[in-house]
Amino acid sequence: MPNGNISKNDDYKKTLEDADRNIIWHPFTQMKEYTQSTPLIIERGEGSYLIDIYGKRYIDGVSSLWVTTHGHRKKEIDEAIIEQIGKISHSTLLGISNVPAIKLAMKLREIVPKGLSKIFYSDNGSTAVEIALKMSFQYWKQTTGRERRKFVCLKEGYHGDTLGAVSVGGIDLFHELYRPLLFDSYKSPSPYCYRCELELDYPSCSLACADKMEEIILQDAENISAVVLEPLVQGAGGMIVSPPGYLKKVRNICDKYNLLLIADEVAVGFGKTGKMFACEHEEVTPDFLALAKSITGGYLPLAVTITTEKIYNGFLGDYSEFKTFFHGHTYTGNPLACAAALASIEIFEKENILEKLRGKIELLENRLKEFKELKHIGDIRQKGIITGIELVKDKKTKEPYPIELKMGYKVTDFAREMGAVIRPLGNVVVLMPPLSISEEELNSLLDITFKSIKKATEE
Ligand code: PMP
Repeated sequence: MPNGNISKNDDYKKTLEDADRNIIWHPFTQMKEYTQSTPLIIERGEGSYLIDIYGKRYIDGVSSLWVTTHGHRKKEIDEAIIEQIGKISHSTLLGISNVPAIKLAMKLREIVPKGLSKIFYSDNGSTAVEIALKMSFQYWKQTTGRERRKFVCLKEGYHGDTLGAVSVGGIDLFHELYRPLLFDSYKSPSPYCYRCELELDYPSCSLACADKMEEIILQDAENISAVVLEPLVQGAGGMIVSPPGYLKKVRNICDKYNLLLIADEVAVGFGKTGKMFACEHEEVTPDFLALAKSITGGYLPLAVTITTEKIYNGFLGDYSEFKTFFHGHTYTGNPLACAAALASIEIFEKENILEKLRGKIELLENRLKEFKELKHIGDIRQKGIITGIELVKDKKTKEPYPIELKMGYKVTDFAREMGAVIRPLGNVVVLMPPLSISEEELNSLLDITFKSIKKATEE
Protein backbone atom coordinates (compact mmCIF):
# COMPACT_ATOMS: atom_id res chain seq x y z
CA MET A 1 0.00 0.00 0.00
CA PRO A 2 2.33 2.82 -1.21
CA ASN A 3 2.06 6.12 0.67
CA GLY A 4 -1.06 4.99 2.47
CA ASN A 5 -3.10 5.36 -0.74
CA ILE A 6 -5.93 2.93 -1.02
CA SER A 7 -7.40 2.39 -4.42
CA LYS A 8 -10.94 1.03 -4.66
CA ASN A 9 -9.71 -1.24 -7.46
CA ASP A 10 -7.11 -2.87 -5.24
CA ASP A 11 -9.34 -5.09 -3.25
CA TYR A 12 -9.69 -2.13 -1.05
CA LYS A 13 -11.67 -3.75 1.73
CA LYS A 14 -9.02 -6.41 2.33
CA THR A 15 -6.34 -3.73 2.25
CA LEU A 16 -8.17 -1.78 4.92
CA GLU A 17 -8.54 -4.88 7.06
CA ASP A 18 -4.87 -5.76 6.77
CA ALA A 19 -3.76 -2.22 7.46
CA ASP A 20 -6.03 -2.03 10.48
CA ARG A 21 -4.62 -5.27 11.88
CA ASN A 22 -1.03 -4.39 11.08
CA ILE A 23 -0.83 -0.73 11.97
CA ILE A 24 -3.42 0.35 14.48
CA TRP A 25 -2.91 -0.47 18.14
CA HIS A 26 -6.48 -0.53 19.42
CA PRO A 27 -7.39 0.69 22.92
CA PHE A 28 -8.46 -1.79 25.62
CA THR A 29 -7.80 -4.55 23.09
CA GLN A 30 -5.55 -7.61 23.23
CA MET A 31 -3.88 -7.16 19.87
CA LYS A 32 -2.68 -10.78 19.67
CA GLU A 33 -6.31 -11.83 19.40
CA TYR A 34 -7.47 -8.84 17.41
CA THR A 35 -4.93 -9.37 14.63
CA GLN A 36 -6.29 -12.90 14.15
CA SER A 37 -9.88 -11.74 13.80
CA THR A 38 -11.78 -10.03 11.01
CA PRO A 39 -12.06 -6.41 12.08
CA LEU A 40 -15.35 -4.59 11.92
CA ILE A 41 -14.61 -1.44 9.96
CA ILE A 42 -17.28 1.23 9.98
CA GLU A 43 -17.63 3.35 6.90
CA ARG A 44 -20.86 5.25 7.50
CA GLY A 45 -23.59 5.92 10.02
CA GLU A 46 -27.28 6.66 9.71
CA GLY A 47 -29.52 7.38 12.70
CA SER A 48 -29.21 4.44 15.10
CA TYR A 49 -27.17 2.39 12.62
CA LEU A 50 -23.51 1.84 11.88
CA ILE A 51 -22.69 0.60 8.39
CA ASP A 52 -19.50 -1.34 7.65
CA ILE A 53 -17.35 -1.38 4.53
CA TYR A 54 -19.41 -4.30 3.17
CA GLY A 55 -22.65 -2.37 3.61
CA LYS A 56 -23.85 -4.47 6.56
CA ARG A 57 -25.95 -2.49 9.04
CA TYR A 58 -25.66 -2.76 12.82
CA ILE A 59 -27.75 -1.11 15.53
CA ASP A 60 -25.37 1.09 17.52
CA GLY A 61 -26.29 -0.51 20.85
CA VAL A 62 -23.76 1.39 22.95
CA SER A 63 -23.99 4.68 21.05
CA SER A 64 -20.37 4.44 19.89
CA LEU A 65 -19.04 4.23 23.45
CA TRP A 66 -21.84 6.14 25.13
CA VAL A 67 -21.71 9.30 23.06
CA THR A 68 -24.08 9.34 20.07
CA THR A 69 -27.16 11.15 21.29
CA HIS A 70 -29.47 12.10 18.43
CA GLY A 71 -28.21 9.46 16.03
CA HIS A 72 -25.51 9.53 13.36
CA ARG A 73 -25.65 12.17 10.63
CA LYS A 74 -28.09 14.34 12.54
CA LYS A 75 -28.83 17.08 10.06
CA GLU A 76 -28.76 20.02 12.49
CA ILE A 77 -25.40 19.01 13.98
CA ASP A 78 -23.88 18.29 10.56
CA GLU A 79 -24.99 21.74 9.42
CA ALA A 80 -23.79 23.53 12.55
CA ILE A 81 -20.30 22.09 12.08
CA ILE A 82 -20.25 22.91 8.37
CA GLU A 83 -21.42 26.46 9.08
CA GLN A 84 -18.67 26.87 11.67
CA ILE A 85 -16.06 25.48 9.25
CA GLY A 86 -17.05 28.36 6.96
CA LYS A 87 -15.95 30.76 9.70
CA ILE A 88 -13.03 29.14 11.55
CA SER A 89 -12.17 25.62 12.69
CA HIS A 90 -9.78 26.38 15.50
CA SER A 91 -8.44 29.21 17.55
CA THR A 92 -7.10 29.07 21.09
CA LEU A 93 -8.80 29.87 24.40
CA LEU A 94 -5.46 30.62 26.04
CA GLY A 95 -5.83 34.32 26.63
CA ILE A 96 -8.33 34.95 23.78
CA SER A 97 -11.80 33.63 23.06
CA ASN A 98 -14.13 32.41 20.33
CA VAL A 99 -17.83 32.81 19.61
CA PRO A 100 -19.07 29.18 19.86
CA ALA A 101 -17.22 28.64 23.15
CA ILE A 102 -18.96 31.67 24.65
CA LYS A 103 -22.38 30.73 23.30
CA LEU A 104 -22.03 27.18 24.60
CA ALA A 105 -20.88 28.39 28.02
CA MET A 106 -24.01 30.56 28.27
CA LYS A 107 -26.21 27.62 27.30
CA LEU A 108 -24.52 25.20 29.70
CA ARG A 109 -24.94 27.63 32.57
CA GLU A 110 -28.69 27.62 31.91
CA ILE A 111 -29.05 23.85 32.02
CA VAL A 112 -26.65 22.56 34.68
CA PRO A 113 -27.65 22.28 38.37
CA LYS A 114 -28.07 25.68 40.03
CA GLY A 115 -24.95 27.15 41.58
CA LEU A 116 -22.58 25.88 38.87
CA SER A 117 -21.50 28.87 36.89
CA LYS A 118 -17.85 28.81 35.81
CA ILE A 119 -16.93 26.70 32.82
CA PHE A 120 -13.46 25.38 32.08
CA TYR A 121 -13.03 23.64 28.73
CA SER A 122 -10.92 20.65 27.80
CA ASP A 123 -11.31 17.81 25.33
CA ASN A 124 -12.02 14.45 26.98
CA GLY A 125 -13.52 12.91 30.07
CA SER A 126 -10.24 12.04 31.78
CA THR A 127 -9.00 15.61 31.57
CA ALA A 128 -12.36 16.96 32.76
CA VAL A 129 -11.87 14.93 35.95
CA GLU A 130 -8.16 15.68 36.31
CA ILE A 131 -8.94 19.36 36.09
CA ALA A 132 -11.43 19.03 38.95
CA LEU A 133 -8.82 17.16 41.03
CA LYS A 134 -6.18 19.81 40.40
CA MET A 135 -8.58 22.69 40.96
CA SER A 136 -9.77 21.29 44.28
CA PHE A 137 -6.21 20.75 45.50
CA GLN A 138 -5.18 24.24 44.43
CA TYR A 139 -8.35 25.79 45.86
CA TRP A 140 -7.58 24.51 49.36
CA LYS A 141 -3.93 25.46 49.11
CA GLN A 142 -4.75 29.00 48.04
CA THR A 143 -7.60 29.62 50.43
CA THR A 144 -6.28 27.88 53.56
CA GLY A 145 -2.56 27.52 52.94
CA ARG A 146 -2.88 23.78 53.55
CA GLU A 147 -2.20 20.94 51.17
CA ARG A 148 -5.05 18.48 51.09
CA ARG A 149 -3.51 15.67 49.08
CA LYS A 150 -6.05 12.93 49.50
CA PHE A 151 -9.21 12.14 47.58
CA VAL A 152 -12.00 9.76 48.43
CA CYS A 153 -13.29 7.70 45.55
CA LEU A 154 -15.32 4.54 45.09
CA LYS A 155 -14.40 0.94 44.45
CA GLU A 156 -15.51 0.05 40.92
CA GLY A 157 -15.26 3.74 40.04
CA TYR A 158 -13.82 4.86 36.72
CA HIS A 159 -12.80 8.35 35.71
CA GLY A 160 -10.55 7.86 32.70
CA ASP A 161 -7.11 6.56 31.79
CA THR A 162 -4.66 9.37 32.51
CA LEU A 163 -2.66 8.94 35.70
CA GLY A 164 -4.63 11.39 37.83
CA ALA A 165 -7.91 9.84 36.74
CA VAL A 166 -6.53 6.35 37.34
CA SER A 167 -5.43 7.42 40.85
CA VAL A 168 -9.09 7.86 41.73
CA GLY A 169 -10.17 4.75 39.83
CA GLY A 170 -11.32 1.60 41.55
CA ILE A 171 -11.35 -1.11 38.89
CA ASP A 172 -8.47 -3.41 39.74
CA LEU A 173 -8.29 -5.03 36.31
CA PHE A 174 -7.58 -1.67 34.67
CA HIS A 175 -5.91 0.23 37.46
CA GLU A 176 -3.90 -2.04 39.76
CA LEU A 177 -0.89 -2.39 37.47
CA TYR A 178 -0.29 1.36 37.48
CA ARG A 179 -0.56 1.74 41.27
CA PRO A 180 3.20 2.45 41.67
CA LEU A 181 2.78 5.53 39.46
CA LEU A 182 -0.27 6.94 41.21
CA PHE A 183 -1.10 9.19 44.14
CA ASP A 184 -2.93 7.62 47.07
CA SER A 185 -6.66 7.83 47.46
CA TYR A 186 -9.17 6.34 49.86
CA LYS A 187 -11.52 3.78 48.34
CA SER A 188 -15.00 3.69 49.76
CA PRO A 189 -17.30 0.69 49.14
CA SER A 190 -19.20 0.74 45.89
CA PRO A 191 -22.98 1.16 46.24
CA TYR A 192 -23.26 -2.17 44.41
CA CYS A 193 -26.35 -3.73 45.94
CA TYR A 194 -26.15 -7.03 44.03
CA ARG A 195 -22.70 -7.71 45.47
CA CYS A 196 -22.84 -5.59 48.59
CA GLU A 197 -19.43 -5.70 50.21
CA LEU A 198 -21.10 -5.15 53.59
CA GLU A 199 -23.47 -8.05 52.89
CA LEU A 200 -26.53 -5.93 53.58
CA ASP A 201 -29.77 -5.32 51.70
CA TYR A 202 -31.30 -2.08 50.57
CA PRO A 203 -33.27 -0.32 52.05
CA SER A 204 -32.80 -1.96 55.46
CA CYS A 205 -29.07 -1.15 55.19
CA SER A 206 -29.90 2.58 55.48
CA LEU A 207 -27.12 3.19 52.95
CA ALA A 208 -24.41 1.78 55.19
CA CYS A 209 -21.94 2.07 52.30
CA ALA A 210 -22.19 5.84 52.62
CA ASP A 211 -21.67 5.52 56.40
CA LYS A 212 -18.46 3.64 55.59
CA MET A 213 -17.37 6.60 53.53
CA GLU A 214 -17.99 8.84 56.51
CA GLU A 215 -15.86 6.54 58.68
CA ILE A 216 -13.01 6.81 56.17
CA ILE A 217 -13.32 10.58 56.09
CA LEU A 218 -13.37 10.85 59.88
CA GLN A 219 -9.90 9.30 60.03
CA ASP A 220 -8.28 12.02 57.93
CA ALA A 221 -10.82 14.75 57.06
CA GLU A 222 -8.37 17.63 57.15
CA ASN A 223 -6.12 16.05 54.52
CA ILE A 224 -8.92 15.18 52.13
CA SER A 225 -9.61 17.54 49.28
CA ALA A 226 -12.73 16.06 47.69
CA VAL A 227 -14.93 13.05 47.11
CA VAL A 228 -15.09 11.98 43.49
CA LEU A 229 -17.80 9.72 42.13
CA GLU A 230 -20.02 8.91 39.18
CA PRO A 231 -23.51 9.98 40.24
CA LEU A 232 -26.22 7.30 40.06
CA VAL A 233 -24.43 4.90 37.71
CA GLN A 234 -20.87 3.61 37.97
CA GLY A 235 -20.39 3.10 34.24
CA ALA A 236 -17.23 1.16 33.44
CA GLY A 237 -17.55 -0.68 36.76
CA GLY A 238 -20.50 -2.52 35.19
CA MET A 239 -23.40 -0.06 35.06
CA ILE A 240 -23.77 -0.25 38.82
CA VAL A 241 -26.86 1.74 39.74
CA SER A 242 -26.61 3.30 43.19
CA PRO A 243 -29.64 3.04 45.47
CA PRO A 244 -31.86 6.10 45.85
CA GLY A 245 -30.56 8.56 48.40
CA TYR A 246 -26.91 7.53 48.12
CA LEU A 247 -25.78 10.58 46.19
CA LYS A 248 -27.66 12.97 48.47
CA LYS A 249 -26.15 11.29 51.51
CA VAL A 250 -22.64 11.68 50.10
CA ARG A 251 -23.34 15.37 49.39
CA ASN A 252 -24.41 15.80 53.03
CA ILE A 253 -21.26 14.06 54.27
CA CYS A 254 -19.13 16.37 52.13
CA ASP A 255 -20.93 19.38 53.61
CA LYS A 256 -20.56 18.06 57.14
CA TYR A 257 -16.77 17.69 56.82
CA ASN A 258 -16.23 20.65 54.50
CA LEU A 259 -15.05 18.56 51.54
CA LEU A 260 -15.69 19.26 47.89
CA LEU A 261 -17.77 16.94 45.74
CA ILE A 262 -16.67 16.11 42.20
CA ALA A 263 -19.50 14.62 40.13
CA ASP A 264 -18.21 12.82 37.08
CA GLU A 265 -21.13 12.84 34.65
CA VAL A 266 -18.92 12.08 31.67
CA ALA A 267 -20.90 8.90 31.01
CA VAL A 268 -24.31 9.66 32.48
CA GLY A 269 -24.78 13.30 31.52
CA PHE A 270 -27.03 14.61 28.75
CA GLY A 271 -30.23 12.69 29.25
CA LYS A 272 -29.07 9.11 29.61
CA THR A 273 -30.56 8.65 33.10
CA GLY A 274 -33.87 10.18 32.00
CA LYS A 275 -32.96 13.66 33.25
CA MET A 276 -30.47 16.00 31.64
CA PHE A 277 -27.98 15.39 34.47
CA ALA A 278 -27.92 12.53 36.97
CA CYS A 279 -27.42 14.92 39.91
CA GLU A 280 -30.91 16.30 39.26
CA HIS A 281 -32.49 13.03 40.42
CA GLU A 282 -31.42 13.81 43.97
CA GLU A 283 -31.34 17.60 43.69
CA VAL A 284 -27.63 17.71 44.30
CA THR A 285 -25.29 20.45 43.18
CA PRO A 286 -21.70 19.23 43.19
CA ASP A 287 -18.73 21.58 43.55
CA PHE A 288 -17.42 20.30 40.23
CA LEU A 289 -19.35 18.74 37.39
CA ALA A 290 -17.29 16.93 34.74
CA LEU A 291 -18.95 16.49 31.35
CA ALA A 292 -17.65 15.08 28.06
CA LYS A 293 -18.75 12.21 25.76
CA SER A 294 -22.33 13.19 24.74
CA ILE A 295 -21.76 16.91 25.11
CA THR A 296 -21.34 17.26 21.34
CA GLY A 297 -24.07 14.74 20.57
CA GLY A 298 -21.22 12.30 19.92
CA TYR A 299 -19.55 14.23 17.13
CA LEU A 300 -16.29 15.71 18.37
CA PRO A 301 -14.02 15.58 21.42
CA LEU A 302 -15.01 18.21 23.97
CA ALA A 303 -15.23 18.34 27.74
CA VAL A 304 -16.02 20.82 30.46
CA THR A 305 -15.37 21.07 34.16
CA ILE A 306 -17.99 23.33 35.67
CA THR A 307 -17.61 24.81 39.12
CA THR A 308 -18.96 27.42 41.50
CA GLU A 309 -18.20 31.09 42.11
CA LYS A 310 -16.69 30.07 45.46
CA ILE A 311 -14.04 27.84 43.87
CA TYR A 312 -13.38 30.30 41.04
CA ASN A 313 -12.86 33.16 43.47
CA GLY A 314 -10.16 31.12 45.20
CA PHE A 315 -8.03 31.52 42.07
CA LEU A 316 -8.28 35.30 41.73
CA GLY A 317 -5.34 37.54 42.54
CA ASP A 318 -2.55 39.55 40.97
CA TYR A 319 -0.48 37.65 38.42
CA SER A 320 2.51 37.76 40.75
CA GLU A 321 0.56 35.85 43.41
CA PHE A 322 0.59 32.86 41.02
CA LYS A 323 -2.94 31.81 41.83
CA THR A 324 -3.60 31.21 38.14
CA PHE A 325 -4.88 27.79 37.17
CA PHE A 326 -1.86 26.70 35.13
CA HIS A 327 -3.61 24.17 32.95
CA GLY A 328 -4.91 24.18 29.38
CA HIS A 329 -5.02 21.84 26.42
CA THR A 330 -4.29 22.85 22.85
CA TYR A 331 -7.78 22.14 21.55
CA THR A 332 -9.53 23.58 24.58
CA GLY A 333 -12.84 25.16 23.54
CA ASN A 334 -12.44 24.15 19.91
CA PRO A 335 -15.03 26.13 17.88
CA LEU A 336 -16.21 23.17 15.77
CA ALA A 337 -16.78 21.03 18.86
CA CYS A 338 -18.54 23.88 20.65
CA ALA A 339 -20.79 24.52 17.64
CA ALA A 340 -21.71 20.83 17.59
CA ALA A 341 -22.44 20.88 21.34
CA LEU A 342 -24.64 23.92 21.03
CA ALA A 343 -26.61 22.32 18.20
CA SER A 344 -26.98 19.11 20.20
CA ILE A 345 -28.32 20.89 23.29
CA GLU A 346 -30.74 22.88 21.14
CA ILE A 347 -32.10 19.61 19.75
CA PHE A 348 -32.88 18.47 23.30
CA GLU A 349 -35.07 21.54 23.64
CA LYS A 350 -36.61 21.70 20.15
CA GLU A 351 -37.45 18.01 19.93
CA ASN A 352 -38.48 17.41 23.56
CA ILE A 353 -35.95 14.61 23.71
CA LEU A 354 -36.33 13.88 27.42
CA GLU A 355 -40.11 13.67 27.19
CA LYS A 356 -39.91 11.34 24.21
CA LEU A 357 -37.41 9.21 26.05
CA ARG A 358 -39.88 8.26 28.78
CA GLY A 359 -41.78 5.75 26.64
CA LYS A 360 -38.52 4.15 25.52
CA ILE A 361 -37.29 3.83 29.10
CA GLU A 362 -40.57 2.15 30.01
CA LEU A 363 -40.35 -0.19 27.05
CA LEU A 364 -36.83 -1.12 28.07
CA GLU A 365 -37.94 -1.75 31.64
CA ASN A 366 -40.80 -3.99 30.52
CA ARG A 367 -38.79 -5.96 28.02
CA LEU A 368 -35.95 -6.52 30.50
CA LYS A 369 -38.38 -8.50 32.67
CA GLU A 370 -38.18 -11.32 30.09
CA PHE A 371 -34.43 -11.42 30.51
CA LYS A 372 -34.73 -12.23 34.22
CA GLU A 373 -35.90 -15.74 33.30
CA LEU A 374 -32.63 -16.62 31.57
CA LYS A 375 -30.55 -19.12 33.50
CA HIS A 376 -27.33 -17.12 33.61
CA ILE A 377 -28.53 -13.61 34.25
CA GLY A 378 -27.80 -12.66 37.84
CA ASP A 379 -28.72 -9.01 37.91
CA ILE A 380 -30.32 -6.48 35.60
CA ARG A 381 -29.63 -2.84 36.29
CA GLN A 382 -31.28 0.02 34.52
CA LYS A 383 -31.35 3.74 34.95
CA GLY A 384 -32.95 5.63 32.10
CA ILE A 385 -31.64 4.29 28.81
CA ILE A 386 -28.56 2.79 30.53
CA THR A 387 -28.66 -0.96 31.07
CA GLY A 388 -26.22 -3.45 32.57
CA ILE A 389 -27.02 -7.16 32.42
CA GLU A 390 -24.73 -9.13 34.71
CA LEU A 391 -24.08 -12.70 33.61
CA VAL A 392 -23.23 -15.28 36.24
CA LYS A 393 -22.09 -18.87 36.11
CA ASP A 394 -24.43 -19.76 38.95
CA LYS A 395 -27.51 -17.71 39.63
CA LYS A 396 -28.01 -19.02 43.17
CA THR A 397 -24.50 -18.44 44.46
CA LYS A 398 -23.86 -15.43 42.17
CA GLU A 399 -20.59 -17.10 41.16
CA PRO A 400 -19.21 -15.06 38.27
CA TYR A 401 -17.94 -16.56 35.04
CA PRO A 402 -14.14 -16.69 35.12
CA ILE A 403 -12.93 -13.61 33.27
CA GLU A 404 -10.76 -15.78 30.94
CA LEU A 405 -13.94 -17.27 29.54
CA LYS A 406 -14.77 -13.87 28.03
CA MET A 407 -18.49 -14.56 28.35
CA GLY A 408 -19.35 -10.91 27.79
CA TYR A 409 -17.44 -10.94 24.51
CA LYS A 410 -19.08 -14.19 23.45
CA VAL A 411 -22.44 -12.47 23.76
CA THR A 412 -21.36 -9.39 21.88
CA ASP A 413 -19.76 -11.47 19.09
CA PHE A 414 -23.09 -13.21 18.52
CA ALA A 415 -24.88 -9.87 18.64
CA ARG A 416 -22.56 -8.56 15.96
CA GLU A 417 -23.42 -11.49 13.69
CA MET A 418 -27.08 -10.69 14.25
CA GLY A 419 -26.67 -7.00 13.47
CA ALA A 420 -25.97 -5.08 16.66
CA VAL A 421 -22.77 -3.55 17.97
CA ILE A 422 -22.59 -3.84 21.73
CA ARG A 423 -19.59 -3.94 24.03
CA PRO A 424 -19.39 -5.73 27.36
CA LEU A 425 -17.72 -4.75 30.59
CA GLY A 426 -16.36 -8.06 31.89
CA ASN A 427 -19.41 -10.23 32.53
CA VAL A 428 -21.81 -7.32 32.15
CA VAL A 429 -23.58 -6.83 28.84
CA VAL A 430 -24.14 -3.13 28.34
CA LEU A 431 -26.88 -1.43 26.37
CA MET A 432 -26.81 2.32 25.93
CA PRO A 433 -28.34 3.18 22.57
CA PRO A 434 -28.67 6.71 21.24
CA LEU A 435 -31.55 8.60 22.89
CA SER A 436 -33.05 8.94 19.41
CA ILE A 437 -33.47 5.19 18.91
CA SER A 438 -37.01 4.32 17.76
CA GLU A 439 -39.14 1.86 19.70
CA GLU A 440 -38.89 -0.56 16.81
CA GLU A 441 -35.10 -0.34 16.78
CA LEU A 442 -34.98 -0.71 20.53
CA ASN A 443 -37.09 -3.85 20.29
CA SER A 444 -34.71 -5.27 17.66
CA LEU A 445 -31.73 -4.46 19.85
CA LEU A 446 -33.37 -6.24 22.78
CA ASP A 447 -34.30 -9.26 20.62
CA ILE A 448 -30.71 -9.58 19.43
CA THR A 449 -29.33 -9.16 22.95
CA PHE A 450 -31.70 -11.76 24.37
CA LYS A 451 -30.86 -14.31 21.67
CA SER A 452 -27.14 -13.64 21.99
CA ILE A 453 -27.13 -14.11 25.76
CA LYS A 454 -29.14 -17.31 25.45
CA LYS A 455 -26.85 -18.66 22.76
CA ALA A 456 -23.61 -17.78 24.56
CA THR A 457 -24.66 -19.01 27.98
CA GLU A 458 -26.96 -21.96 27.27
CA GLU A 459 -25.83 -23.63 24.05
N1 PMP B 1 -15.40 9.34 33.42
C1 PMP B 1 -16.31 8.40 33.16
C2 PMP B 1 -17.44 8.20 34.11
C3 PMP B 1 -16.22 7.64 32.00
O1 PMP B 1 -17.13 6.68 31.75
C4 PMP B 1 -15.15 7.89 31.11
C5 PMP B 1 -14.98 7.12 29.81
N2 PMP B 1 -15.64 5.95 29.66
C6 PMP B 1 -14.22 8.87 31.44
C7 PMP B 1 -14.38 9.58 32.59
C8 PMP B 1 -13.06 9.16 30.55
O2 PMP B 1 -13.46 9.80 29.41
P1 PMP B 1 -12.49 9.85 28.13
O3 PMP B 1 -12.45 8.44 27.61
O4 PMP B 1 -13.17 10.80 27.22
O5 PMP B 1 -11.17 10.33 28.61
